[in-house]
Formats: sequence, C-alpha cells, structure tokens
Amino acid sequence: MNSKQQLIDYWQKDKIITDKNLLKAFAIVDREKFILPEYLEEAYDDNPLPILGGQTISQPTTVMMMIQALELKKKDKILEIGAGSGYNAAIMSKLCKKIYSVEIVEELADFARKNLKNAGIKNVEVISGDGSLGYEKFAPYDKCMITAACPEIPETIIAQMKINGIILAPVGVTGAGYQELIKAKKTRKGLESESLGEFSFVPMKGKYGF
Ligand code: SAH
Repeated sequence: MNSKQQLIDYWQKDKIITDKNLLKAFAIVDREKFILPEYLEEAYDDNPLPILGGQTISQPTTVMMMIQALELKKKDKILEIGAGSGYNAAIMSKLCKKIYSVEIVEELADFARKNLKNAGIKNVEVISGDGSLGYEKFAPYDKCMITAACPEIPETIIAQMKINGIILAPVGVTGAGYQELIKAKKTRKGLESESLGEFSFVPMKGKYGF
C-alpha cells in the first residue's frame, strides 16, 4: 500500500510536478474520500480505479499533470467535463475561484456531489447533463478540463472560453486505446495547440462524443 507522501516524493524527485501549490493541494485532499470503499487500500497506488457506471477515477500522476498544464490562477473560473468522482475538481478547487463540473451519468453526478460535500469543498458545482455541449450559463471560462476522450475539441466549448483561455483535452479515436492529451490556447486567430503526450481515457458520450 503506497502513501500520499510516496507519490509527492516521486513527483518531486523526477520533476514531474514542480508547482508547490499543486503539491500542497494534493496533500490536503484525501483521495480515499473519492473512491469506492473496496479500493481503499489502493488509494495512493498510481493507477486509475473503477468508480460507478463503468467509469474510472484517473491515475494520480495523470490528474496532477493535467492540472499543472492548466496553469490555474486564484481568480479562474473553470469548466470541467466529466465530474466522475469529483476528485479532479477537488484538487483544482484549492487553486482557483470556482469550478462548474458537468457529468452525464446521473449516479456519478450524485457520487461527485456527495464526495465533495464530505470533503468540505464548496466552490465546485456539479451539473447533470451533456458536457460535450459545454455549459453556456456561466460562460466565458478561463480554463476547461475535459476528462473523457473526445473525437475533437467541441466547437461549442471553444466558443465558451475567454481569449487566452486554456483547454485541456484527450483527443483521438479510442479504439487504439490511447489519445493525445492536447493543450489548446484560444487566441483571436484560433486555437494554438500542443501535444502533452499519449494517455488513455474513457470515451466521451453525448452529442459531440463518440
Ligand atoms: N474527473 C473524474 C474522472 C473522469 S472519468 C474524476 O476525477 O474522478 C470521465 C467522466 O466523464 C466519467 O464520469 C463520464 O461519465 C464522464 N462523461 C463522459 N461523457 C460525458 C459528457 N458528454 N458530458 C459529461 N460527462 C461525461
């Protein structure tokens, strides 16, 4: 059974996570509050774990790399697609102002709300619905984190971002098992995209999903 501290030491030693505030956020949030009781022993193994509805909570290193790439600022308003367990949002909640997290599976939206409440987190709102459409009501957003694999970054989400806003999304055909994690900045001339490498995510559902 691994510990929280072992993961922190590994990220610092290999310079995978260099953002001190992000490491602090990881230290504050208990991952065991966001997983199913039967996996408690594995809370700090660096693996994804099954949650409800055939979905998974991402592996800690992936969560941390994605959040680091978002360059969160204290005043940021975030759109997350795929609340899942609520864990990703819980870590981000310590580094920004407000998160709107959309979840398409009803029982997972409830699971995320319950976990976030239990962890005492108040600046995350979980919304039930199809996040491939983004969430128009509170747009424009500073940053967007898509946590399910999409065929391409949905135009509706790009439209809901501020200029210089950053979108992080696993993009690609899921049949191959892997997607490219894309970091895209919205500029007046369009998206400036870079690849952060290959990762494996569950497929996005909904109108602009698979
Ligand atoms: N961020 C989550 C893990 C995400 S797994 C966590 O920290 O636990 C991907 C999630 O995306 C799943 O919960 C899945 O139900 C959700 N999802 C898939 N397609 C979606 C869509 N179109 N809109 C909203 N959520 C979606």
